[in-house]
Amino acid sequence: MSTEASKKAFQEAQSLIPGGVNSPVRAFKSVGGTPIFITEGEGAYLKDVDGNRYVDYVQSWGPLIFGHRDESIETAVINAVKHGLSFGAPTEAETELAKLVVSFFDSIDKVRFVSSGTEAVMSAIRLARGFTGRDDIVKFTGCYHGHSDALLVEAGSGAATFGNPSSPGVPADFTKHTLLAEYNNIESVKKCFADSSDIACVIIEPIAGNMGLVPADKEFLHELREICDANGSLLIFDEVMSGFRGTINGAESITGVKPDIVTLGKVIGGGMPVGAFGARAEIMAQLSPDGPVYQAGTLSGNPVAMAAGLAALTKLKQNARVMNVLNERATRLVEGMKKEAEACGITMQVDTRGSMFGFFFNDKPVKNFADACRSDAELFAKFHAAMLEEGFYFACSLYETGFISTATTDEMIEDTIKASAKVFKTITNG
Ligand SMILES: *Cc1c(COP(=O)(O)O)cnc(C)c1O
Repeated sequence: MSTEASKKAFQEAQSLIPGGVNSPVRAFKSVGGTPIFITEGEGAYLKDVDGNRYVDYVQSWGPLIFGHRDESIETAVINAVKHGLSFGAPTEAETELAKLVVSFFDSIDKVRFVSSGTEAVMSAIRLARGFTGRDDIVKFTGCYHGHSDALLVEAGSGAATFGNPSSPGVPADFTKHTLLAEYNNIESVKKCFADSSDIACVIIEPIAGNMGLVPADKEFLHELREICDANGSLLIFDEVMSGFRGTINGAESITGVKPDIVTLGKVIGGGMPVGAFGARAEIMAQLSPDGPVYQAGTLSGNPVAMAAGLAALTKLKQNARVMNVLNERATRLVEGMKKEAEACGITMQVDTRGSMFGFFFNDKPVKNFADACRSDAELFAKFHAAMLEEGFYFACSLYETGFISTATTDEMIEDTIKASAKVFKTITNG
């Protein structure tokens, strides 16, 4: 397989765009490869500038649950474009999409649309602080909540400590209100609450997808809810990735734990830039113009993005069983690959939630970021490169989640498992 044209395109991009990409993970840095430059997508496939075709398990990092160029989404977008790209004034499509979102989530009475997941989370945190009149927030090591300053804090040690910024350009003063806890470890959360009586909210990915796929234990989420209630703090479920991907009706529907605020993104825009945050009416009443907490956006709720989101969520609404079908395929894929890996003496940890799948080359179950970091990164890089060569496009980092779309067929899954068998044999023999 030749990737000469991609290499050339990457070289030119690097001369004009930092790292040649507009979002860092796209650069294939962690697997030491060269990114594939895409010309088009079709269903479950991606096509590159060299004319190669890949089965796509990235699906634009989540949004495309119906695959590339889904007919109803494409038609809705084209129709919307013909009426104007943006008005900066309300449209009925916003109310329609809000109605749909509210119908999916028990914990959401009202919702506001923004243009990215980052924006949704940033605004939800401000709302939680405004509502409680407190400053501190608790986040979990290994959870990603977008690239806003206060949330760009990762691990120190496993112990809960006041956070240090994980990027230059973020003043320590901006992250001193961000307390870190360990995922699935309630003691570390208790320590945060012992250290601070000023905690506005705990934010968590209830189905973590940014340290590989690591779902939170049900019991842990229940305990989080109790601690938040006992201390008058809000619980935020960041479902920018897992919303409409891991479940149809939110993590609350499979865990029984109701969050105070939910953040959404990715699938909600059907491939267009949309984020959202929602909560019960009492909390949302704090938001401008009803309340004093300011939040705004020139292109928020723009008609083209709303049309794409409406088409995507309408399809999900009409076919709620789709998530079960996707989960069966996702499970078959990772169980199949695991079996082939084991036949070659490679241990794999695999898991799925809805259309999300994850795998680690790891001897032990992965419960948190520290566990995830003990996975075999070298083996993952080899696996990634060899599968790409076979025509299967997996996320280029072991800390990412994979996605099945409705366009991913059983035959593609079988082909992927077969290719993985070949790849595992090659890796272990040489
Ligand atoms: C992707 C993601 C975000 C950020 O969304 P963007 O649209 O990339 O800004 C936030 N939280 C979670 C859980 C995500 O997966």
